[in-house]
Amino acid sequence: MVTVLGIPLDENSSFLRGTSAAPQKVREAYHSDSTNFCTEDGNDLSKDSRWKDVGDLQLSAMPKAIEEIEAGIDAYLSEGNKVLSIGGDHSITYPVIRAYAKKYPNLNILHLDAHSDLYHDFEGNPFSHASPFARIMEQGLAKRLVQAGIRTLNPHQTEQAKKFGVEIIEMKNWTDSIRFTFDGPLYISLDLDAMDPAFVPGVSHYEPGGFTPRQVLSIIQRVKAEVAGADIVELNPHRDINGMTAMVAGKFYKEILAKLLA
Ligand code: MN
Ligand code: MN
Repeated sequence: MVTVLGIPLDENSSFLRGTSAAPQKVREAYHSDSTNFCTEDGNDLSKDSRWKDVGDLQLSAMPKAIEEIEAGIDAYLSEGNKVLSIGGDHSITYPVIRAYAKKYPNLNILHLDAHSDLYHDFEGNPFSHASPFARIMEQGLAKRLVQAGIRTLNPHQTEQAKKFGVEIIEMKNWTDSIRFTFDGPLYISLDLDAMDPAFVPGVSHYEPGGFTPRQVLSIIQRVKAEVAGADIVELNPHRDINGMTAMVAGKFYKEILAKLLA
């Protein structure tokens, strides 16, 4: 079974709030009459009983929310399910991976983002949405962390990446012939700002020069690995225009579910 779980946390966003409203917007996009429920590989998700949207996690304020997210994911993993988490800001990925690492000691992570999110802390917050992958790597929660779409590296994050052995394919070096292969279970973490803000105006941080949605769809569809979990984060409905970013998120909801169900 695949569980879809909303994680409406935006307290760790450094610049703007709003991502806590995202899970509901992604659901609305998925159910929108403007499209259908089929994945591009032809599976009608509305007739597929192997997955279920269980609604949103009920969260306390920080820092308790971090423990609650880990416990929430633990519960579904212990039932033998895979989880697609809908954020929330990117800070949710750290407690999600804490849960995953207990079940999957050889976990690989494919992280798509404009930002490497490797700050030791951001403005004093170690749980910042700019820091989840620093926490994950310093605790040895992932065997391999591969990042693509990155176009904001600074000296600190470059140093962090070196220290943790993070494999980064910067956006400036991207070519569509690049393919990803992983031995063992894979977790996909999709920060919507990996794409160009022209396609996703409903994100908090506009970083021009990103992927098209098609490029990210191809990365996910073509990755060779057993996909064990995923998240879609950083939709900020307050910034969205005509729900277009929510529809992009809804598209990835379907295509990532396709990978989880494969
Ligand atoms: Mn991010
Ligand atoms: Mn980002």
